[in-house]
Amino acid sequence: MQPNHKDFWFLPLGGCGEIGMNLNLYGHAGSWLMVDCGVTFEKSPDATRTGNRIELPEPSFISNRAESLVALIATHAHEDHIGAIVHLWDQFKCPIYTTSFTRNVLLRKLREKGVDAPVITVSSGEEIHLGPFYVKWLPITHSTPETNALLITTPVGKVLHTADWKIDSAPVVGQPVRPSLYQALGQSGVDAIVCDSTNADRPGHSVSESELFHGLNGKVAASRRRVVVGCFSSNVARLQTLGNVARVSGRYLCLLGRSLHRMVSSARAAGYLTENFVCIDNYELGYLLPEETLIVATGSQGELGAALHRLASDNHQDVHLSAGDHVIFSTMTIPGNEKQVTGLVSAFRARGIQVTLADESDIPLHASGHPYIDELKQMYQWVRPRLAIPVHGEERHLRANGRIASGEGVPYRLVGKNGDLFDLVNNRKIEAAVKVGRLWLNESRARLERVVPV
Ligand SMILES: [Zn+2]
Ligand SMILES: [Zn+2]
Repeated sequence: MQPNHKDFWFLPLGGCGEIGMNLNLYGHAGSWLMVDCGVTFEKSPDATRTGNRIELPEPSFISNRAESLVALIATHAHEDHIGAIVHLWDQFKCPIYTTSFTRNVLLRKLREKGVDAPVITVSSGEEIHLGPFYVKWLPITHSTPETNALLITTPVGKVLHTADWKIDSAPVVGQPVRPSLYQALGQSGVDAIVCDSTNADRPGHSVSESELFHGLNGKVAASRRRVVVGCFSSNVARLQTLGNVARVSGRYLCLLGRSLHRMVSSARAAGYLTENFVCIDNYELGYLLPEETLIVATGSQGELGAALHRLASDNHQDVHLSAGDHVIFSTMTIPGNEKQVTGLVSAFRARGIQVTLADESDIPLHASGHPYIDELKQMYQWVRPRLAIPVHGEERHLRANGRIASGEGVPYRLVGKNGDLFDLVNNRKIEAAVKVGRLWLNESRARLERVVPV
């Protein structure tokens, strides 16, 4: 199955009908272009002992025709978009294109596993020919720096692949969304949009990153004890906000968790976290009064062995929390992790440690990186595509996004799933055109194994 020069196809192998493990393919004139290659974290059959395991898309469709794969583009540094590259690149051996920050994050992972993949740096706004595809990187706001949407042009059609996005007019790190960039696409005529659906059932507009300083600073200022903030390590803007809070409140900032340290060095190498972001070493916590410190910690989803889990079970080597300390979750609980998060919260509270969850707070302590209904409407009004293909969501999210597109006058909408082939020229889809599945990383055997559906 190869597209000819009259075809323009979209074929998701992961991330369509689910949130996680995105792997998208575009096909034209005998060539394929891959956009993102991510993982998902699923409960192990033996979850109480081993926690979550890494799962990834079964890539054999494209591995079997790797010679026609012209490139892999990584839209941003989240694990559901880049996490599988290190495990699958040997099957593709194609060049990888991405922006500076994402490259730093990705290269670190590739080097750790000894994968020698060429990663080429692209700047936002740049336009590159990749085989028969002409790709333009369009900056967009999200919850990690340098996220880009892609305008992919062939002689038979133009598609806007939004990647993960929101409309943030004050994102703390990086530039606000430029409406004129997307309005210009609408004026030039876009055939199809492949669009993030994560929050397509949420009315209104997502909270801006810049709105969080007030709430977080208020919570820290109200405490006379140690404060720990749980945070997703890739959210560099949130780290910057916490650096600002530390400075204003006269506290020393300390990071607990390897992934935070890695992400901070990747961010600094790309030119972020340069002001008001000074961290002390972990051992220094022992020499400071509790009220002099602001600790940022990983593990807000209750991951076994992560910093928050260790703090809750009082076996962290650098710091011991005590009654009266305050733990703030500047994150949302990802569906499926409720039990682990509840366990974590109960363990803290049982020891007299105060816990505040952003999910339950009246003032904003966390901002989603995905568009709410009003933002989706805005994007459809700007871009005015002929065809909308909702992705990055479970079926209900995809359907909700399809309805929004319809309400905004998008003439064709196609809601599908992994393995469906979307014909971008003729506005139709072929269901289950390609066999899809999942692999999981068996770490004890250091190999990928097929997930057997139950
Ligand atoms: Zn994503
Ligand atoms: Zn993302």
